[in-house]
Amino acid sequence: MENANETLFQEALTHFPGGVSSPVRAFRAVGGTPKFFRKAWGARFEDEEGRRYVDLCMSWGPLILGHAVPEVIAAAKEAMDEGLTFGAPSRRENILARRIKTMVPFVEKMRFVSSGTEAVMSALRAARGFTKRDRVIKFEGCYHGHSDGMLVKAGSGLATFGEPSSAGVPRGFADLTTVLPLDDLEALEQAFAKLGPELAAVIIEPIPANNGLLVQDLSFLNRLRELCTRNGTVLIFDEVISGFRVAPGGAAELFSITPDLVTYGKIIGGGMPVGLYGGRKDIMAVISPDGPVYQAGTLSGNPVAMAAGLATLEKLTPNLYRDLEHKGARWATAFEKIPGLHVPRVGSLLWPLFQPGVKRADRVESGAIAKFNHMHGLMLEQGIYLPPSGFEVAFLSAAHGDEELAHFERAVGMVGQELRKA
Ligand SMILES: *Cc1c(COP(=O)(O)O)cnc(C)c1O
Repeated sequence: MENANETLFQEALTHFPGGVSSPVRAFRAVGGTPKFFRKAWGARFEDEEGRRYVDLCMSWGPLILGHAVPEVIAAAKEAMDEGLTFGAPSRRENILARRIKTMVPFVEKMRFVSSGTEAVMSALRAARGFTKRDRVIKFEGCYHGHSDGMLVKAGSGLATFGEPSSAGVPRGFADLTTVLPLDDLEALEQAFAKLGPELAAVIIEPIPANNGLLVQDLSFLNRLRELCTRNGTVLIFDEVISGFRVAPGGAAELFSITPDLVTYGKIIGGGMPVGLYGGRKDIMAVISPDGPVYQAGTLSGNPVAMAAGLATLEKLTPNLYRDLEHKGARWATAFEKIPGLHVPRVGSLLWPLFQPGVKRADRVESGAIAKFNHMHGLMLEQGIYLPPSGFEVAFLSAAHGDEELAHFERAVGMVGQELRKA
């Protein structure tokens, strides 16, 4: 199957916008034809032409244990044999909820949904219903899924109103979202001074990992917590990536900061579509049927997804987190052998960038991204699959072993030489 990827992609282009089911998969940023994958195991996967890669994208985060982990597959299969969906309560929701509460004690009440986008959308609605306020703050460089109110960028100057960052988002939605820069205490103080009593919620990725890895100073997050408390504003941590990855209790545990609500996704489904929002029980009391805020889902709490999520969370031991931390350090060190490359890191999240010390989205230089795009193609030739955009973080998993690291180190050596020539 010499040109299998190209043939599949040409057909896909007739079916799907850009030939893909989610835009970054189209390889537009890095160029070339996206690979079509047919199977995966551990830290590796194989494309339709039989080429194998060490995967550093790992489906964008869910696969903290690796691809096709036998215990996760077995749990999903066992659930499948008992029926794919009931549209009624089932015991696996209780079991997964219990497990989540032991890992994240501040989640007093929760609801399962089917994606991170849905979790965020619902958490914002809960916050608005609870506070009876409309305005929310988000930060530039944080991604919260693709609901209308979150597809917003900063307005000009010190404008209070955001502007749609996507066509199709009504200005009215964007008007209710104020967008602030990360790593800017003064902008945060000013926004609260001006808008405090109107603010239903502030949402942030406590470890921003969707525009590179923009690790914030602890003082910034602590001050945000204080300002929210003082103003009766609901603080929402969007831990769809960081949850269960950087620590059992996610960034909230790592930083010892408790949000009012939290959103999860990715890891809690173990590779199946799941999201969750939850937190303070007085806030969650507004959710239907207990309260007036409507939120529902045909496949919410799906038994197969619950089983895959539970099997995943059960394997997240203290040892596993120590192992991921150790791996993260070794892979980042190996990566930095490429001249000019910096790899900021939190645990198993790594961001390769040809530029040091970036903490906010607007500081990323286009030259650094152009260099990444070049490196991406060279790494692919060496059998290393990086996320196909310089604004995405790389993910390690428990399945990234010494063999994969050795392969990666060889690739880094070759690619480093090529880049020196360029
Ligand atoms: C992936 C992601 C989302 C959206 O989740 P989907 O399941 O893709 O809808 C929301 N927030 C963060 C922080 C994410 O990384």
